[in-house]
Amino acid sequence: MWPLKMSEIPSSTASKMDGKANSLIRKWLGLPRCLSETGLFGRNILQLPLQSISLGYMQEKTRPTDQSVWNANAKVPTGRKWNAQTEVDQAVGRLQHREIVGRVQAGRGGLGWGEAPRFWSKANRKERKEMVVAGVTRMEEDHYKIKAVSQGRQGSWTTWEGVVNRNISWSDLWKIPQARLSFLIRSIYDTLPCPRNLHQWFGNEECCSHCNAPNASLQHISSGCKIVLSQGRYRWRHDQVLRKLAEVLEVCRKGNKEPPSAEDHTSFVSEGGVRRNTRPTETARLFSPDQEWNMRVDLTVLNLNY
Ligand SMILES: [Zn+2]
Repeated sequence: MWPLKMSEIPSSTASKMDGKANSLIRKWLGLPRCLSETGLFGRNILQLPLQSISLGYMQEKTRPTDQSVWNANAKVPTGRKWNAQTEVDQAVGRLQHREIVGRVQAGRGGLGWGEAPRFWSKANRKERKEMVVAGVTRMEEDHYKIKAVSQGRQGSWTTWEGVVNRNISWSDLWKIPQARLSFLIRSIYDTLPCPRNLHQWFGNEECCSHCNAPNASLQHISSGCKIVLSQGRYRWRHDQVLRKLAEVLEVCRKGNKEPPSAEDHTSFVSEGGVRRNTRPTETARLFSPDQEWNMRVDLTVLNLNY
């Protein structure tokens, strides 16, 4: 971002660079062109560690380099489309308004709970610089949020309730296979090639391959198809894990012994020391031998062949 800060680059050039970079990011992550930049850069239910070049440009242009520039009120040339001074004035206005409003309670925390806000009049010069940049960033994030709410299909996540946000860091981004990451992003913003989307994009008359429902949505394919529900395909993975647990517990119940423990206790001996024979401590047993235990598992077919 340093060359953008120091050079007299208009905001339109930064936007063009942003568009080029966005298309390359979409290609890299295997995302369709119709996915809006809100999905890539917004603070959404799924947050990617990406930042747009335009936002970086705005942050750097509104952050004064040193005290002399701040005092001289030097004009920052940014073209006609976007003005850094106007943006700074708006950010300062918001901060001053926040000070007038005072400390308000947010969320379910008690009164006075949480970190005390920093007010504009009490902040020093360095803090003010950071507050202005944070204010500009917040305004841009608000734009993303407004755009997400206005999008019917890609912004449907704004109406979800009780969903835990997921932040993906750069290390996660390198670890997750590209196809899985692409599926994750496209499933959240409903841009997977499900029959309803194919109908909308290309006019195809596709239907669900199991129940022949016309123009089936992603919700239908992933969790709502009645035929697939009756066949138990959705819970196959869950049942596999449950079956394994049931098998282990059944062996323990019949043989009246404890399940295998993954923990191996290592007794360390200091240099030149002698290994002590320590008796293992008595731990609480899962199945007490003086009770009769019955096995009940929510599986349709349980093959326990012993
Ligand atoms: Zn179906």
